[in-house]
Amino acid sequence: MTVREVILLGNPLLREKSSDAAFGKELETIIEDLKDTLIYLQRKKGIGRALAAPQIGYLKKVIFINARNSKNSRTMTLINPTIVEKSKEMIEVWDSCYSFDVAFFVQIKRHKKIKVEYMDENGRKIVEEFEDDLSELLQHEIDHLNGILATDHLKSGKDIIMREEWEKRYRN
Ligand SMILES: [Zn+2]
Repeated sequence: MTVREVILLGNPLLREKSSDAAFGKELETIIEDLKDTLIYLQRKKGIGRALAAPQIGYLKKVIFINARNSKNSRTMTLINPTIVEKSKEMIEVWDSCYSFDVAFFVQIKRHKKIKVEYMDENGRKIVEEFEDDLSELLQHEIDHLNGILATDHLKSGKDIIMREEWEKRYRN
């Protein structure tokens, strides 16, 4: 049981590119730490659906998702994910991040559908299509593996709001 500290916006580590993860002891530790940290954060912050390994200091391509409360309920680990197809159709979303301490939200555009190639915890290669909330979530998390943050997608500084205002105006 290891809850790790989340690296915050401004830390240059968040801008690094992660490398492919290899199966073995280190990967097991990363997955365990991601799970422990995400469950802890979801309880503490009352919000959030996923965590990427670089956010807790491992520059490896690993993502853990626990999106049980969204309409496409899903718990999964993605190892070495890459987006192999993106829809032309875009959706507008309010996005935040544990690395922003979920203090503010940004309104940005994401692809409505994506196809992702990844490995699961058992090393099985999977190609899967995601739509709407899971699609935008995975785009956010895969961005982390490439050193990209949600704020990089902002078109205007007017599309930033504090969490309190988001809760009042936009939370379902
Ligand atoms: Zn994030």
